Amino acid sequence: MKLRKATAASAAVLALALSATACSSGDKKDEGSSGGGKKITVGIKFDQPGLGQKTPQGYSGFDVDVAKYVAKKLGYSEDQIEWKEAKSNDRETMLQRGDVDFIAATYSITPEREEKVDFAGPYLLAHQDVLIRADDDSIKSPADLNSKKLCSVTGSTSAQNIKNKLAPKANLQNYPTYSACLGGLQNKAIDALTTDDSILAGYAAQEQFKGKFKLAGFKMTNENYGIGVKKGSDLKDKINKALEEMVADGSWEKAVKANFGPANYKYEPAPKIGEIKS
Ligand code: GLU
Repeated sequence: MKLRKATAASAAVLALALSATACSSGDKKDEGSSGGGKKITVGIKFDQPGLGQKTPQGYSGFDVDVAKYVAKKLGYSEDQIEWKEAKSNDRETMLQRGDVDFIAATYSITPEREEKVDFAGPYLLAHQDVLIRADDDSIKSPADLNSKKLCSVTGSTSAQNIKNKLAPKANLQNYPTYSACLGGLQNKAIDALTTDDSILAGYAAQEQFKGKFKLAGFKMTNENYGIGVKKGSDLKDKINKALEEMVADGSWEKAVKANFGPANYKYEPAPKIGEIKS
């Protein structure tokens, strides 16, 4: 009986190993499909206006601009970038599996994540806040969230912080993406959407939500955005150098203005590489 179990288990392990090999060999980074041009694969958000957004016209946002600048310094032009959606809960796994070369997706540097992946940066400092309906005056402090229905995203620091310290008694519902919370906020299925103010400002400024939502302005945490790479990757140092150059040559300032200007988001000054605000 024991023996049979072990055999079944090893067969399953073997099958897994084979499918993993099949995946990675089909994912060659250095051979593009046309003319042997090299490619770099970058993880971003697809549904966060101002940061990472996929539109019919292409990809846009601050994270996208940072990623393009970094890729260029690494020797890749824009058309050599392959963009992949990196949802909050998938980021560490995508890096560990080698699905992407780096991730620029509102990705906060935390000690827990640093056990699994490495980070370059930080390149932006944001703060956790809540988005509420414009006519809601019942949420005046973070403690008021304890009696509310909150929406956040699985695998995010936002959900973790609510549960562990900010409002442990809140009725927290976790969705796969933040944009999936917006309908519920509008039709009152939920009372507040919580994540970084940088992300929430982008949603509030969207044409279809103009005047409907507001940010509470609580600044509940510091979110130090880093660029995630595989643990031990030599990309980390190269990306740090690129980020330093981006600030020094004015491209960082240009990118924050262009991407956060429309949402009137009051961004913080460029952080120093390696300086994490707790
Ligand atoms: N910056 C936070 C995090 O990395 C929240 C935003 C997100 O989920 O991307 O978890």
